[in-house]
Amino acid sequence: MKKYICDVCGYIYDPAEGDPDNGVAAGTAFEDIQEDWLCPLCGVGKDQFSVQE
Ligand SMILES: [Zn+2]
Repeated sequence: MKKYICDVCGYIYDPAEGDPDNGVAAGTAFEDIQEDWLCPLCGVGKDQFSVQE
């Protein structure tokens, strides 16, 4: 699964780790995160993230 990076603050979403503090279990692909999920560091939405190549 691909990692995604927040274009605003540089936070990296790693599917292997998820975001358990915000209801995203480890092993969740970025595409499968709930649409109202926000960047845990700066609070922007999923549309502000890009695939990390
Ligand atoms: Zn961010």
